[in-house]
Amino acid sequence: MTFVDRRRFLAGAGALSGAAALGVPRPALAQAKPKVVVIGGGPGGATAAKYVARDSGGAIEVTLVEPQRQFTTCFHSNLYLGGLRDWTSITHSYDKLAANYGIRLAHQAAQAIDRDKRTVRLADGSELPYDRLVVAPGIDLKFDSIPGYSEEAAEAMPHAWKAGVQTQILKRQLDALPDGSTIVMVAPPNPYRCPPGPYERVSMMAHVLKAKGHKSSKIIVLDPKDSFSKQALFMEGWEKHYPGMIEWQDPKVHGGIKGVDPKAMTVTTELETYKAHLANIIPAQMAGKIARDAGLANQTGWCPIDPTSMKSVNDPNIYIVGDACIPGDMPKSGFSANSQAKVAAMTIRGELANARTFPARYTNTCWSLITPEDTVKVGGAYEPKDGKIAAVSTFISQKGESPELRRQTQDENMGWYSGITSDVFS
Ligand SMILES: Cc1cc2nc3c(=O)[nH]c(=O)nc-3n(C[C@H](O)[C@H](O)[C@H](O)COP(=O)(O)OP(=O)(O)OC[C@H]3O[C@@H](n4cnc5c(N)ncnc54)[C@H](O)[C@@H]3O)c2cc1C
Repeated sequence: MTFVDRRRFLAGAGALSGAAALGVPRPALAQAKPKVVVIGGGPGGATAAKYVARDSGGAIEVTLVEPQRQFTTCFHSNLYLGGLRDWTSITHSYDKLAANYGIRLAHQAAQAIDRDKRTVRLADGSELPYDRLVVAPGIDLKFDSIPGYSEEAAEAMPHAWKAGVQTQILKRQLDALPDGSTIVMVAPPNPYRCPPGPYERVSMMAHVLKAKGHKSSKIIVLDPKDSFSKQALFMEGWEKHYPGMIEWQDPKVHGGIKGVDPKAMTVTTELETYKAHLANIIPAQMAGKIARDAGLANQTGWCPIDPTSMKSVNDPNIYIVGDACIPGDMPKSGFSANSQAKVAAMTIRGELANARTFPARYTNTCWSLITPEDTVKVGGAYEPKDGKIAAVSTFISQKGESPELRRQTQDENMGWYSGITSDVFS
């Protein structure tokens, strides 16, 4: 059956018995309700699960597969690091998704996807059949992209690029630093989760050191990139609020990052070896393992999608949303994941419940704190164009904005966090 045929077939849900009489193979559709399985309960997966379940009014059975019982957001984890939010305020439960929309929660890892049989095998060996599958596992870290770095080394030199224990280790280390300390951050190469995230993190670290009265502590950022998101705004802010504390080095300055030694707590570049009191090492990244194992990623390690629907280009029954996908001009962000998930959910309801669909539209904004009251933003609106998700309009904060405007931008940021977490988890 071609994909177009399958679409028509699925749209005519009332004609199922006739189709069955024709001997069409469709194991999962023989059930009373079409089944959607979602792998991953971050902003991508949880949003997709909610919007399919809520907007189909019970016509589609939705199962969310996520090993964690509570989800701590990476977004605003830098505010936790800066002492501006506590842990519970960035941690969310899935209970309301089950209670409010009847979503079935499977709190285990998905181990394999059988694309031919259309089943997901869980850690306990059981299998979930699906008519449509949403794959939203986020990122995996390429530990071996930095010689000497490993999952074990990350206990001494945290990446804190997946929220949880790693974020807590980083905060403990930061809070314990005496004056005169050296923090070394190795920033990740493109593409990676949250383009301004490392630089907001540097700002929040500097805020903590300054608030503790440090006079001679330093933060050295070793970057494999020549430039970074909102660079002019961060540089201006660092000069204004933390003069002399932050030193950003691009490859022309450091000559290349050669490796780390977690026992000696050193980071070595082509030109120098730095002894760090705190080393925050953020390696290169790729789509989560389950997506790569299922053959949904290409040679880049990320998953190509159809920008009109978020459908995998490799499988018409699978959608990929959030950090794991190749999002065109969109950054990998929680805001983007939530926006992409709504397009996927709409298309799925169109296919399985004959719901009306509309052309795909996406939005994103990323706010970053330089100080608790000096916040900048970048964002845009996006549409499918030339085979990718393309920016149709963009905006960015300007250098030299008034303190009042920057405070308003921070108020927006806090409002956004409340709004998106309530949209995703309740
Ligand atoms: C420091 C930092 C600051 C950030 N700040 C912002 C910000 O201000 N604004 C913003 O929009 N974004 C921000 N981000 C980015 C944002 O956190 C990510 O882009 C977003 O979380 C991606 O969502 P996702 O659903 O794709 O993946 P994730 O949030 O990673 O969720 C994936 C989920 O899938 C689960 N999973 C993985 N494999 C399996 C499996 N095999 N079976 C079942 N479940 C599985 C994981 O347990 C996880 O819960 C920030 C990131 C960082 C690191």
